[in-house]
Amino acid sequence: MEIHVAKSAGFCFGVERAVKTVYEWAEKAEGPLYTDGPIIHNETVVNDLIARGIRPLAPGEIPPPGSTVILRSHGVTKDREEELKAAGLTVVDATCPFVARIHRLAEEESAKGRQIVIIGDATHPEVEGILSHCPNGAAVIKEPEEAEALTFTADAKISVLAQTTSNRNKFDKIVEILEKTSYDVHVLNTICNATQVRQQEAEQIARYADGMIVVGGRNSSNSRKLFEICREVCRNTIFVGSVSELTAEWFSGINILGITAGASTPQIIIQEVQTYVRTEL
Ligand code: SF4
Repeated sequence: MEIHVAKSAGFCFGVERAVKTVYEWAEKAEGPLYTDGPIIHNETVVNDLIARGIRPLAPGEIPPPGSTVILRSHGVTKDREEELKAAGLTVVDATCPFVARIHRLAEEESAKGRQIVIIGDATHPEVEGILSHCPNGAAVIKEPEEAEALTFTADAKISVLAQTTSNRNKFDKIVEILEKTSYDVHVLNTICNATQVRQQEAEQIARYADGMIVVGGRNSSNSRKLFEICREVCRNTIFVGSVSELTAEWFSGINILGITAGASTPQIIIQEVQTYVRTEL
């Protein structure tokens, strides 16, 4: 069996930076240290931090005075940041610069009086954070059909932003629909480059592979999108959290195997999957 592992599999720049920030603060924080929710969608990393006494805060939880709180790579809402600062806590912002840029763009476009349309998942914390930077509100859509159903006045001026991990193919379809309307449409493709490269490479491998493994956390939205993309071109695609979910039977009949992983999947987990397929089958 030939094995093709995507070069872009694993931690992206923003996740790497956020995880590094936590480990650095573990050395220098004077009081208790927390992350505002799990620092990444990966149990191995989160459990390692818990073992070091660094616990993720529950939604809305305020830790004791003297604590330090690290904000995650996909950012938080303005209210949450202000609430933590108002409680007198040390707030360390590990928001990825690409996400922070969307916050700025949302504010600038809103200030011009334009209607904001965000392509993304309304329940994802990154989108909630972006929404909080839209003082006049925003429409959040995920599917092309939702773009068809948008109703603004015929001369509306709309600015389109995207969650950094959006599916590029869906983004293009939605933009195509919006550009056919009478609206004045300004498109800001804010899907991050790391995501685009990862999705393109995954799709490319999945097109010629007979079997494709996507490794990622259950709650990782970018990993699920990778799965979606690979599945469209290779029906024999599976999504696993770790090597323990693989079974030898699944590999029967596979001549070319592709492996990719989401932005929050540590190298060690990708390595374990590779070792399994190279040595155990
Ligand atoms: S996927 Fe892109 S935007 Fe999101 S954390 Fe990684 S580098 Fe930053």
